[in-house]
Amino acid sequence: MSRKTVSRLVVTVSVVLGVANAVSIGTKLAAYDVPLSLIVSCAMACLATTVWIVGTLVDRFGTTTYRCSDPDCSFTVRVKYADAAENRRWQETTAEHPAHLYRH
Ligand SMILES: [Zn+2]
Repeated sequence: MSRKTVSRLVVTVSVVLGVANAVSIGTKLAAYDVPLSLIVSCAMACLATTVWIVGTLVDRFGTTTYRCSDPDCSFTVRVKYADAAENRRWQETTAEHPAHLYRH
């Protein structure tokens, strides 16, 4: 799957889950005669939170982090949804990155 496909799938799933969460919360609040403006604001907050949580979790699991092997060096690269060739290229880059060679 390409990055665009994964990204679109993540957005679609997160919005569907967010709308389901917002409708669920909205119907529960409506049963208690909560004013409509408050229901809408709560539902929008639930929608936004759900979309953010799903996006953050997917980014966490889809991201690979490469660090320089030198403990004194802080060079770090985070790559999202990379294929094998791109992962290999970033491994080589972190092993011999120009800033590290310049300092030593
Ligand atoms: Zn380094």
